[in-house]
Amino acid sequence: MDMEVTAWHALHSTMTAQQGRRRFSRGTLRRITAFARPHRRHLVWFLVLSTATAMLAVATPLLAGRVVDAIVGGDSASLVVRLSGLIAVIAVAEAALGLVTRWLSASIGEGLILDLRTTVYDHVQRMPIAFFTRTRTGALVSRLNNDVIGAQRAFSDTLSGVVSNIVTLLLTLVVMLGLSWQITLIALVLLPVFVLPARRVGRRLADLRREGADHNAAMGTQMTERFSAPGATLVKLMGRPARESAEFATRARRVRDIGVRSAMVQTYFVTALTLVSALALAVVYGLGGFLALRGQLEPGAIVSLALLLTRLYAPLTALSGAHIEVMSALVSFERVFEVLDLKPLITEKPDARAVPEGPVSVEFDSVRFGYPSADKVSLASLEEVATLDTRGGEEVLHGISFRAEPGQMVALVGSSGAGKSTVAQLLPRLYDTDSGAVRLSGVDVRELTAASLRDVLGMVTQDGHLFHDTIRANLLLAKPEAAEPELWDALRRARLEDLIAALPDGLDTVVGERGYRLSGGERQRLTIARLLLAHPRVVILDEATAHLDNTSEAAVQEALTEALDGRTALVIAHRLSTVRAADLILVVEDGRIVERGTHETLLAADGRYAELYRTQFTDSEDRREAAEEARRADVEGARSSDSGPDAVPESALVN
Ligand code: ADP
Repeated sequence: MDMEVTAWHALHSTMTAQQGRRRFSRGTLRRITAFARPHRRHLVWFLVLSTATAMLAVATPLLAGRVVDAIVGGDSASLVVRLSGLIAVIAVAEAALGLVTRWLSASIGEGLILDLRTTVYDHVQRMPIAFFTRTRTGALVSRLNNDVIGAQRAFSDTLSGVVSNIVTLLLTLVVMLGLSWQITLIALVLLPVFVLPARRVGRRLADLRREGADHNAAMGTQMTERFSAPGATLVKLMGRPARESAEFATRARRVRDIGVRSAMVQTYFVTALTLVSALALAVVYGLGGFLALRGQLEPGAIVSLALLLTRLYAPLTALSGAHIEVMSALVSFERVFEVLDLKPLITEKPDARAVPEGPVSVEFDSVRFGYPSADKVSLASLEEVATLDTRGGEEVLHGISFRAEPGQMVALVGSSGAGKSTVAQLLPRLYDTDSGAVRLSGVDVRELTAASLRDVLGMVTQDGHLFHDTIRANLLLAKPEAAEPELWDALRRARLEDLIAALPDGLDTVVGERGYRLSGGERQRLTIARLLLAHPRVVILDEATAHLDNTSEAAVQEALTEALDGRTALVIAHRLSTVRAADLILVVEDGRIVERGTHETLLAADGRYAELYRTQFTDSEDRREAAEEARRADVEGARSSDSGPDAVPESALVN
């Protein structure tokens, strides 16, 4: 290997190694072995072939020495030809072995990535919602990606590097000592000059690189923030463009300085090392020549030693940083295992059953619940990944009991933060209760299979998440085997048929975050179409509070009526028409049901519901109706009692 290449390699390996210095636990090794087990045949072949390659690599310098000896000794020409022929054969064999070992190490490494990735993906998918609400997705994803790749490095790069370097080093040393112990010892004495600066410079470069990365990140943030439309507007209106530019320029200049510095540090290092090895080579020629002249060494041995010398420094410098490299790879494994060790809080029982056939009743029985605290669902040691917030642990629902008979609609009303969404989330087991039980047709949801829960329950939330995919794919999520006419039927019933038919790509239009922009109402109707397609027996619905335009509103309303028809439903209601239609209205405040009944009975009771009714139903249609009705009730109230006209402030009604 060329000295300069060797130097660069040494520098690179010590530099990357400096970045991951940590401790690791013993169990990790056992688990890594378990992950490596499926690849053990490849591993054995890899070790065998690496050893063979290292042996061939030592053979060439020896043969070259023999050629020189043959020439100097005046041997037959055919010997020289045979020797050089052998060198050629070895070169070809080395090349072939190199290809095979590279293939082996790549397939072991990539196979390991595959296993780790799929395992981690499956595992994270099973984590409870609480985990996702606490974890910054981008950070988790990039961290897992990086660590999975880091773990793979332990196998392909480090393992192959360490194994072949040790073999090469030992063989080279043995052969060199056999040729001339004096020259070998002197070469070894020069070694610290080679290795020690590599580590210092590696650290220095790692520092420089980190500082540079920080500045680059800061500039990136500044640019993305300032160059977005709202950011740019803010700067134009009230920013200090001159100061912003100056700040940016300071950072950019520092990055330039760091660039120049690290280029120079690297170059000094490489130059120095190249010089040291050139000096070592001079020692080989000088001392070797001296010994040869005194007849203590064959001239060929000098050639062999000179060639072997380059093979001595390469593995030695690489190995000097190897233990740190191995450590950092192990740490990567450990971080992956840490995520795998997070226990999913919500699991299916081994003897879980399906929801009984037929219409489904929903029952909450003295349900108490608090959102799990961070330490139960996330990882403190994954701080950079999971932002452990301090919320959670406190009880949010304090004994909720109610029953929805099959086919009934139960409406939840109450002020924001009362616990309505929390109630809704307990039904599909996004969370589990702390005490009490949630039952479907009399069976505790914790006794049911996840698949049957998914089949029975349909949930439409306000934001109606769509994946960045085609409309077709988003619909098929609900029913993968649905045929085209079924899709169109669902779209028709969700009042979306005309809209989608008019799109140039129809069902194949890509929607979602970065896709075709559906309006709020359209998006909601698409999630309703998805629900209609899934045909759930129980519907959980969070009515939109966002203002939709009138046509959209009416269309959503029609679609919902269709979706709720004949099904057991739990609705977080914001519309008068919904609460009116409900068989049972539950007024939730501070995690308790404070009132229950129908629209009429609750209004007559003139309690919290009546108050909400007057203030909370937001859309103008409802408000007008509410105002009208309240006026009537008021007139009646005034007749029966003496509450007076002040009971219904006009201003709260018409807006
Ligand atoms: P509503 O739907 O009636 O507006 P929620 O059920 O969303 O109310 O919230 C009830 C209470 O639970 C609130 O105090 C809220 O702050 C809290 N809460 C909601 N989601 C979480 C969460 N993921 N972690 C911790 N607390 C939460």
